[in-house]
This record gives sequence, structure tokens and C-alpha cells, in this order.
Amino acid sequence: MVKYQHKIGLHLNITPQFSVLYIIFLTGKCNLKCRYCGGSLDESLMPSEIEYPHSQLRKFIEDDRDPVIAFYGGEPLLRKKRMEEIMDKIQARYVLQTNGIYLDRVKRDYLRRFSSILVSIDGRKDLTEYYRGRVYDRVIRNVTMVNKMDYDGELIARMVAGERTNIFSDVMHLMNLGIFTHVHWQIDAIWSGVERFKDFSRWVKDYNEGITLLSKKFFEMLKTGKIPGIVPFLGVLKAFLYGPNPSPPCGAGKEAVAITTDGRILACPICPEFEWNLMGDIHSGIIRRTSILDPCMECKIFDVCGGRCLFTNRERLWGETGFRMVCRTVEHLVNEISKILPEVKRLVKDGVISKKSLIYPGFYNTTEIIP
Ligand code: SF4
Ligand code: SF4
Repeated sequence: MVKYQHKIGLHLNITPQFSVLYIIFLTGKCNLKCRYCGGSLDESLMPSEIEYPHSQLRKFIEDDRDPVIAFYGGEPLLRKKRMEEIMDKIQARYVLQTNGIYLDRVKRDYLRRFSSILVSIDGRKDLTEYYRGRVYDRVIRNVTMVNKMDYDGELIARMVAGERTNIFSDVMHLMNLGIFTHVHWQIDAIWSGVERFKDFSRWVKDYNEGITLLSKKFFEMLKTGKIPGIVPFLGVLKAFLYGPNPSPPCGAGKEAVAITTDGRILACPICPEFEWNLMGDIHSGIIRRTSILDPCMECKIFDVCGGRCLFTNRERLWGETGFRMVCRTVEHLVNEISKILPEVKRLVKDGVISKKSLIYPGFYNTTEIIP
């Protein structure tokens, strides 16, 4: 670990291979109303528009030699002009999290500056449109357009795995489209109401069966020398091959911070309302940090899981039983990847794939690794 000293006197411990990820809320407004989150952020959580000057943001991150800035919302492309202004003024590696509806409105020069573009899509068309409305064709058209302009960064399909998701079919659907470099998902658990699932225990069983199928498929693809961009599998393999994942793996509160439209600094971007999540503000710097609590540190797969998610670790909204049920999904996924690990090592030894190609993510790109 190395020390990263901030100009305003804060100290962040960061792992040497990574710089800090700054997740910037460009607005709380959204042009969709998906079933998971209901659309625009309530103004009581943060103002809809950025209230601090660019100069303050620049000052806040100026000592970071290799910052990563991710645009977030709401829907960040509703404030394209503000996004371009920041990109013009601050030298950084850039990431965009978008619902994809307005990707075709971003100028080519800006699009090509992104290292990663994460686009929300849940899998098959009927499933995506059940959760997100009639967006599928437009999102696919826009992602195809980005591909055609020689974009050479990551194009990551960002799924929510909900009650209707068939994890094998939906991930394979997105992979087979051939327009995304990676697929990444989070389970719609704990941050949603438990009533979103008729029978979550049953869902976990089906999901785990899907993960088994998917890991077999993943290994079949690896054997051909290709690295399938299935983010959770790559993230778990990385921990097995290179050492522990950060805790939490998304970096929330340590390697990653979120900056609200009114300049507050949060550990995790999805819950601005919780007191434990507030780390400081961009005017006076970071005054405290937050970290994963028990039982994770005692867990036998902590080095891989890292406590999974700071928010769900802190807010046991489904109680201990719900928390443990989600852990069953993690344990199963880690176990399936551990089963193929000896064969993966053999593929590396035989030169079919390089060990280096299994480093994912290469930097904090807002993927959450453990679903
Ligand atoms: S599997 Fe569960 S208990 Fe174990 S580290 Fe992950 S979240 Fe924590
Ligand atoms: S994984 Fe959890 S803690 Fe990390 S960004 Fe997502 S919701 Fe926040």
C-alpha cells in the first residue's frame, strides 16, 4: 500500500496499481423511469444541477497524478455540455455510466476519449423492456454506432439481475451480440424491497444453477484462447491469481469516491441519504472514511469477495437472513471459478492464454466485480 496525500490534507490509502476513481454526479435527473430506481433522484437527496465551480473540482483532484473520472447520475448525458467542459479542463482517464439513450448525441472526439463506457441493458429485449421501458432497439443502435467509429475503449453491458433474469441466457445474449467488450451485473437485492422477489431463496437456487452453466461456457471460451469479458468471473480469477481483491471490490470509500451535485463526498454513490456514507466535501476535503464491517472479515472467502458491497454490508435491509442468502450466490460463484482454476493455470502454462490478460479490471472503472 502507498499513501496518497491530498492537497487539502486528507490521506487515502490506495493500492499501487490504481489511482482514485472520482464518480461525478452530473445531474440527479433521468430521462427513464426503470423499475429498480424510479427515475430522477429526489431533490431532497441532492440538487438536480451541479452547484460547485469546475475550479473546485480541479483543485480537489489536482494532486492525483492519474485520476479516473466517471460521469454518473441520474443520466449524465442529460448534461452533455457540463461533461464536455470538465473533459476540456481536467486531464484524466474518463468513464461514462449511461442508459445509452443519448449516446448518439455525444461528439465523436469526446466519445473516443472514454476508457470505459458502461451502458445499462439487462439482457434479452423483453426482459430489458420489462424493467427499463422501450429502450432496447435504441440502445443497441447507439452501441453499434460507437463500435463503428473505431472506439477502442471498453464497452460494458451493465445488467441488473432481477427476478425475471435468466443469468445464463441474458449474459450469453449480450455476449453474442458482439458489440460489448464486457458484461457486468449486480443482483437486485437488499437495495430493493424484498417484495420484488416472490421467492428469493428459490431465485438464488436458479441463479446459482445459471452461474454453473455460465462458468462452464466461460471455460470453453478460454480454451479457444479468447478471454470472455464476463466481469465477475475475471474479477474472481484475478484475486486467485494475483492476490486479494480490495474491500469492497468496487473501491467504495477508499479507492473510489462519489461527488454529489452539491459537492459532498460519498463512499458509495447509490445512497446519499445515509450518514455513514458521508466522507466530507470538496471544499474542506475528506474528514473520515468508512469500511466493511463483520461478519465479512472473518469469512473464508473475504480475500475474493472483499465484503461484496459497502452499502449492503452496512444496511442489512433484508436482515441477516437476506444478507446470508446473497452470500450464498457469492460463495457459489467463487466455488465455480475455483473449480476451473487448475485448468486455467494450465492454459496459461501452455501459452493458450497469457496470465496478464486475466488482470481485470485494469483500473477502477465502476464495475462492481462481485454481483
Ligand atoms: S460472502 Fe458474504 S460474509 Fe463473506 S465476505 Fe462476502 S459478503 Fe461478507
Ligand atoms: S458495490 Fe455497493 S458499495 Fe460499491 S458502488 Fe455498488 S452499491 Fe456502492
